[in-house]
Amino acid sequence: MKKNVPVLKNETYTINIDAHGYEGEGIGRIEDFTIFVKNAIAGEQVQTQILKVNKNFAFGKIIKIIKKSENRDQPICPIYNKCGGCNLQHLKYRAQLDFKKKRVEDCIERIGKLKIVSLGYDGINIHETIGMENPYRYRNKAQLPISNLGGEAVIGFYSPRSHDIIPMEHCYIQCEAFDDIIKLVKTWINKYNISTYDEKNGQGILRHLMVRKSFRTGEVMVVIVVNSNELPHSDELIHVLTENISDVKSVIQNINKKATNVILGQKCITLFGQDKIVDTIDGYSFDISPLSFFQVNPKQTEILYKKVLEYANLSGNEIVFDAYCGTGTISLFLSQKAKKVYGVEIIKEAIDNAKANAIENKIKNTEFIVGEAEEVIPQLINKGINAEVVVVDPPRKGCAQSLLEAIASMKPNRIVYVSCDPGTLARDLSILDGLGYETIEIQPVDMFPQTSHVENVVKIVRK
Ligand code: SAH
Repeated sequence: MKKNVPVLKNETYTINIDAHGYEGEGIGRIEDFTIFVKNAIAGEQVQTQILKVNKNFAFGKIIKIIKKSENRDQPICPIYNKCGGCNLQHLKYRAQLDFKKKRVEDCIERIGKLKIVSLGYDGINIHETIGMENPYRYRNKAQLPISNLGGEAVIGFYSPRSHDIIPMEHCYIQCEAFDDIIKLVKTWINKYNISTYDEKNGQGILRHLMVRKSFRTGEVMVVIVVNSNELPHSDELIHVLTENISDVKSVIQNINKKATNVILGQKCITLFGQDKIVDTIDGYSFDISPLSFFQVNPKQTEILYKKVLEYANLSGNEIVFDAYCGTGTISLFLSQKAKKVYGVEIIKEAIDNAKANAIENKIKNTEFIVGEAEEVIPQLINKGINAEVVVVDPPRKGCAQSLLEAIASMKPNRIVYVSCDPGTLARDLSILDGLGYETIEIQPVDMFPQTSHVENVVKIVRK
């Protein structure tokens, strides 16, 4: 049935906001017609100008806040309204944590069709989100596009849903040293007039700047992604970085000549120092190469991994599978309390890192295998290797159903699910429920303050 569309583009309306969408945007209604209003907060009444009208919903922006929520905060970042990096800075931090918990509850109920604990009823226990004491300056990694505006080099974030770069001086969710590095790199580009990459015609050299820093060892890696085999004036870049920034241990040229949104190419050339930096988590050391995945919020990672260990509830005699293991961080963390941990991961370089990390940390009870989890885990089971505990930490799209079926057929006592997408998590928990596995509790951990990303650790047991 065709819905009556009660709003017109560019017109202004007064709307009561009663909920939040998945990216934190406010949701209100006019005659049952849904309007998404950027940066509006549930409980507020706002004057909204309609920007775009679709068949079943519209998008608007705030013109004036008529009734203000007590959860509203003044964003500390001057470019918050333009930049696509953060989307919750207008919410007080306590309210951000509540928003994330609510998002998980909604997904579990609506997508997973599972029951959560409520007064007098049994169900899944969803805990309060574990937040940070200081929810700024937490990121140990930045990946920023490089471009040119009116003849000057710019480095910044894309604005939401576009490839327009918003120039940036300070980013309050990144490590402070990165602000200085960005400034130095910009000055170097302008001084030597080095061309920047143009997506439209594939011309120009400099594409992205990536910076990583270990908060524990202090080591810094700077990667310049270029559309060329040569990087002009690289000696001057190395000089300016090592003179001005302490602990620069590695300067790397990454070559990416493809017309793609993927930031890094496969080839790296070490221009200065080492080809990796070392970070530590709870006493374990990890090599980080430019291409390997490593959690971006070191403080919260420790909390996340300790939760995994708690939910795995190991006695020391168990065989554990760690599917989607990356560089083996969780596997090594679990190995201290397990008989043996098998880590499975699709990227070969990550498995090479995982093996090196095990040797470096003198851990002998791990084995790492390259391949798709949905292929390798059934093979391990066919060989007669049975795990009592399985950890999965898939990318946003969640687990393949065949993997969940293979895991259930092995009848492990416990499954620990680490998830960065509550939607696919809810789908997978529902599948596991059908396979005889009950979700007991979910712990949201705020790995990405000021943004709407939600990370969870889930304890699942055999019924
Ligand atoms: N557990 C790790 C990494 C989690 S990120 C950590 O905490 O650091 C998810 C990982 O899954 C990535 O390293 C990605 O390369 C890997 N991956 C994606 N699809 C996969 C698949 N089908 N099988 C195995 N690994 C996969």
